[in-house]
Amino acid sequence: MTADAPILPAYRYSPSSLVVWCGYCQRWHWHSPGDGHRVAHCLQPTSPYHTTGYTLVERGTITEAAMRRYARAQRRQTSS
Ligand SMILES: [Zn+2]
Repeated sequence: MTADAPILPAYRYSPSSLVVWCGYCQRWHWHSPGDGHRVAHCLQPTSPYHTTGYTLVERGTITEAAMRRYARAQRRQTSS
């Protein structure tokens, strides 16, 4: 069942890869392109994504620099 799967914004990194930010791992998850439900590959054992997975919706493109900036900003927020 995927009814409880949250919808997460995904960003196109390359023709063959999407990235989605995971607030549980505090890192980017990599997936093949295409909107829809995914099984999560969380490093955080308590992540609810292990149960529900999540649904990706592509929102635009992203660069490696933008990914680094985003990760830094997210980690700052949660460490304070
Ligand atoms: Zn994760």
